[in-house]
Amino acid sequence: MRCEIVSVGTEVVTGDIVNTNAPYIAKELNNLGIQTAFHTAVRDEMDEMVGILDIARKRADLIVTIGGLGPTYDDITKEAVSKVSGHPLIPSKEVENGIRDYFLKLNRTMTDNNLRQAMVFKDGTIFRNDYGTAPGLALKDGETVFVLLPGPPRELKPMFHNFVIPYLTEDSHTFIKEKTIKVFGMGESGIEALLYDIMTGTKNPVLAPYAKIGEVFLKLTARGNTPEDAEKILKPVYDKVYARLEKHIYGEDGDTLASKAMELLRKKGKKVAFCESCTGGYVAKTLTDLPGSSEVFDCGVVTYSNAIKSKIVGVSPVVLKNQGAVCEETAIQMAKGIKQLSGADIGVSVTGIAGPGGGTEEKPVGLVYIGFHTSGASVTRKLNLNGDREKIRILTVKNVFSMIIDYLK
Ligand code: ATP
Repeated sequence: MRCEIVSVGTEVVTGDIVNTNAPYIAKELNNLGIQTAFHTAVRDEMDEMVGILDIARKRADLIVTIGGLGPTYDDITKEAVSKVSGHPLIPSKEVENGIRDYFLKLNRTMTDNNLRQAMVFKDGTIFRNDYGTAPGLALKDGETVFVLLPGPPRELKPMFHNFVIPYLTEDSHTFIKEKTIKVFGMGESGIEALLYDIMTGTKNPVLAPYAKIGEVFLKLTARGNTPEDAEKILKPVYDKVYARLEKHIYGEDGDTLASKAMELLRKKGKKVAFCESCTGGYVAKTLTDLPGSSEVFDCGVVTYSNAIKSKIVGVSPVVLKNQGAVCEETAIQMAKGIKQLSGADIGVSVTGIAGPGGGTEEKPVGLVYIGFHTSGASVTRKLNLNGDREKIRILTVKNVFSMIIDYLK
């Protein structure tokens, strides 16, 4: 199957909206073994849209449109598809009731133009929208399949996952098994070098890397005739990835570095306390974003100025004067100090230069020390990070949780 993705919306064409939906859909389709041959974007103009759809149906057999399903006069995707295919739109009582319920739940008044969203193709398929009012639609017209999706990503993504994937795979009796393996501390190119033969050698399962800040997610997608079959196809490649990257893998699927660290702390019955400087509480915030963190988190203190570093966690003024706030010794004393102050099992500190100012030749922007103190010993991790202030802080936070994971493993 060959697909064309048509992003609908004047703002997408003019660049006022960054088109994040089309790459998302293309990747998802690729996982299903459906190749996307074209991405097009078109303004909310009937003639232009009809023109694009006419071209699309000549060169693709699956056409996925994104956007233009809203209630306003410029939302005309359905009408354009209706024109191109010759399939009329009819009102759906079921969709109308759904829209009325939606407004009732939100305690908002529905205007009549919302009923435009209840117009569907007579012989088409309707995809429920759990996060908005515009349902998605599918229409089979000869050899061509049209799939019409709403524009807002928070509506489109769950709809695609929950309803469109089953729709696209139902005829082929294909079952999908997905697994995302999460790697920290290795770049995408290094990973690719280790996995190149797997990435290029198999179309089922597909192994696709997604680079994140400091992390790489390796998404494995297997297709099989039964769920067990898909699982069986996935397993050997999954095992190979583990065999080659084991020590860099920290988790899978919904795991984050912080959630994994929290899980291990809980398992080992340990509590942690943080003393942060350049991250300004970001580490503590990231951990406390997770429900249940009180079991493993004792306290977090932000010691930004030198005076407070000495006053609260007892960093030696001599060390601060001679070696500065950003050095190994300060990091260790901060970690020790916060462990003592709190009584937690592990004290972790962060001190560094997040930039953009404040760097010197000796201590450039991106230099960060993480201190780690347990009853047994102190260790530090020295980081030389690239990026802007935000990226340096995020990478620091991730390194903190990866240190906790490494220690508890
Ligand atoms: P609604 O029911 O909200 O009107 P719709 O299907 O009519 O949905 P649009 O009006 O085209 O969708 O777009 C609504 C919003 O969805 C846009 O303002 C934008 O935030 C987001 N959006 C639309 N298309 C894209 C896209 N290709 N990539 C990312 N976001 C998009």
